[in-house]
Amino acid sequence: MKDISAADLENNIPLVARRHEGHATTVRVGPAEFGGSGIVVIAGPCAVENEELMLDIARAVKRAGAHMLRGGAFKPLTFPYRRGSMMELGMPGLALLQQAGKETGLPVVTEVMDVRAVGAVAEHADMLQIGARNMSNFPLLIEVAKAGKPILLKRHFGASLRDWLGAAEYLYYHGNTQVVLCERGVVAPHTHEVTSRFIVDLQVVPAVREYSHLPVIVDPSHSTFKRKYVAPIARGAIAVGADGIIIDVHREPEKAAVDPLQALDYEAFGALMGEMRAIAAVVGRTA
Ligand code: PEP
Ligand code: MN
Repeated sequence: MKDISAADLENNIPLVARRHEGHATTVRVGPAEFGGSGIVVIAGPCAVENEELMLDIARAVKRAGAHMLRGGAFKPLTFPYRRGSMMELGMPGLALLQQAGKETGLPVVTEVMDVRAVGAVAEHADMLQIGARNMSNFPLLIEVAKAGKPILLKRHFGASLRDWLGAAEYLYYHGNTQVVLCERGVVAPHTHEVTSRFIVDLQVVPAVREYSHLPVIVDPSHSTFKRKYVAPIARGAIAVGADGIIIDVHREPEKAAVDPLQALDYEAFGALMGEMRAIAAVVGRTA
């Protein structure tokens, strides 16, 4: 019962379902446009760490050609221990992210995990991220929808396309039509190694196109969880027609406070930008 039926399209996801051939929505976040002729590259650290580093990373990704800046101030960490560098900055982190965005002219996206924080996060961010783990947190979806900002809706790693589009339908139903989908890997039984937690479902990109009019991007960082795999999957995402990527970039990746195994350094990110530009041109897009 995971397939999307004609009745689903009519009754359960009428607002996000594709109505006709070529039906496609664009979502604007400042100068960035998801679903337009250009792909959107969102880059930055997994977590906001401090003012100097946040600004340095923002400048580096801007120089390389990124269109938006990412950085988590509230992190859905797998384990409850928050000590040493594994501290998320919370509200002060949001201000640092906002400041780095302003300095570089890059719109910012950040995750909101708690219904009580939606208002505050919306004041600091240009786009609100719903993390994979919260894809089906319906009260959160409703609050985030009402905040009126564009939304990046990550796919839960156990969710079918039907479930994912159902979550997007909640956002539309509650008045927000600025929704961008983000594939970030799904789980399969063999993903027990810490370095192979998820499998990237690139096939879901054309599947989204078949059933929905929403833009869709891919996160090659949180899905592969392994630096070596990030660039190949990012290139693949652009090749299969994704509207962009969201990627972890850090000045010293192995020292990143959160997810040090997956971030790219400035040089690797710059090289990847060039490759994505070339691939984008092949599939009729710009970067
Ligand atoms: C993130 O983008 O920082 C993140 C935690 O992603 P996900 O929700 O996909 O795990
Ligand atoms: Mn992360």
